[in-house]
Amino acid sequence: MDVFDRDPRRPPRVLAYRGGYLASERRRGEQAMRAGNLDLVVATSALELGVDIGALDVSILNGYPGTVAATWQRLGRAGRRQRPALGVLVATSDPLDQYLVRHPEFLFDASPERARIHPDQLLILLEQVRCAAFELPFRDGESFGAEDLGEMLGYLRDEGVLQRQGDRWYWVADSYPANAVSLRSIAEGNFVVIDTTAGGRTVIAEVDYTSVPGTLYQGAIYMIQSQPYQVEQLDWTGRKAFVTRTRADYYTDAIDYSRLKILARFEGRAQGRGVVAQGEVHLVRRYPGYKKIRYYSHDNVGYGRIDLPDQELHTTAVWWLVDPAALEVALRDRQQAIEGFLGAAYALHHVAALRAMAELRDLGRAVGDGEGTWFAVVGPDGRGQLRDPDNHALEPSAAARFEPALFLYDNYPGGVGLSAPLYEDAGRLVLHARDLVASCACPAGCPACVGPVLPSDETRALTPRQAALAVLELLEAR
Ligand SMILES: [Zn+2]
Repeated sequence: MDVFDRDPRRPPRVLAYRGGYLASERRRGEQAMRAGNLDLVVATSALELGVDIGALDVSILNGYPGTVAATWQRLGRAGRRQRPALGVLVATSDPLDQYLVRHPEFLFDASPERARIHPDQLLILLEQVRCAAFELPFRDGESFGAEDLGEMLGYLRDEGVLQRQGDRWYWVADSYPANAVSLRSIAEGNFVVIDTTAGGRTVIAEVDYTSVPGTLYQGAIYMIQSQPYQVEQLDWTGRKAFVTRTRADYYTDAIDYSRLKILARFEGRAQGRGVVAQGEVHLVRRYPGYKKIRYYSHDNVGYGRIDLPDQELHTTAVWWLVDPAALEVALRDRQQAIEGFLGAAYALHHVAALRAMAELRDLGRAVGDGEGTWFAVVGPDGRGQLRDPDNHALEPSAAARFEPALFLYDNYPGGVGLSAPLYEDAGRLVLHARDLVASCACPAGCPACVGPVLPSDETRALTPRQAALAVLELLEAR
């Protein structure tokens, strides 16, 4: 926009479009598109479905959108009305994109109809049945979708939720079930963004609850069109963020740390020199601070503190554990082991998102001991770090029990069914992740395999890429 559309005297020829903009602003943009008054629209998935924007000639995807269906949907926005069109997918350094470029058959042969959420997933279904039973009693032999409900109704009776009288199942618990279905969800309400520049008070955007901690913290730069705003104050309880226009030459990127505790293991099996399992976890996510990053050069030009309540989530996860004796042989140095796990988690996360047809943010990744006594993060210096539950740095040698586990968790309260299929597919996931890391052309590790790596890391005994490879080989079924 700086280059192509900088003459303020003319109406803009380039437009940005995304969710979060006010409806009136979006409608204005859609009208301009339909009327052919624009040369270029820079958009998020908000433009993917259900918006009439007329015909485009070219559709350029900045990276793989995360699902095959979304890829075709977005490419299909160009070339309406029998006119030829061009669709381009520009692969980024993201591991998902790099994987796809090496395995184009994944895009061309996959059926876009494959579901990514399993409505019959036990937990989802149980919550739905619970809510339905509150509204109206079930009858014996009744079904809910394709499922036979006998077992589930029996379970809810044993839990003291339902009572059977004759052939009907009555609600007897005294709580309202929908309150318990999710701990934190979008239902908690959106935040409004209020522009207070020059003493004004104008609502300029609405942001959903889950995105707020990572985007509207005090000090954050928040973009509307190409205008940056700085968040002056976030009123968490009042669901408001107050912003002012700024000329900052940087954007902000929140750092988040997740520590995880295993609540229940549903199933597990031996895999390679370790164990793969799935079950229920409790997650605490903290946003300790943010980075200021300069436009274009992407230099880190400073840090700021974030002061927000911890975000808690009950969800499902799949995790891998390595036999401590085998780990000791393969990666004697704990610092290298931590970096190996963090790199392996990075690669597995990307491969799993692709396989589950999920977006990267639908899944989370974490490395820790599974008991909440320590967790591992990439520290501000780019190095792997152990942290205690209070988020203080912990020397790797000081961890009493050093049995790192690698988690991929379902990033929605209660889980939307992503973990169980990942568990089933766990062996192949590890193979694909190892393939991704092993075949990368970088010397020591890069954002396309194990995540960003410092130049000094290239001189270590094992590079981050070699350490990640060692972990993945331990997890590999044979
Ligand atoms: Zn690489």
